[in-house]
Amino acid sequence: MTTKTKRPFIKLDCGVCKKTNYHIAVTKGKTVENDKLELKKHCRWCKKHTLHKMKLK
Ligand SMILES: [Zn+2]
Repeated sequence: MTTKTKRPFIKLDCGVCKKTNYHIAVTKGKTVENDKLELKKHCRWCKKHTLHKMKLK
């Protein structure tokens, strides 16, 4: 079991409907310095590609 390492999760919230569509597990060794990254992702609620904002949890 390798559950001792804390892996922060990043949430991707749709900028239009504010719903959380994606959860990304940050792999160890990768530092996420910018917590205001934005990605164009498909939102299943808006049914189109919208700007998603990353949120560190
Ligand atoms: Zn949306």
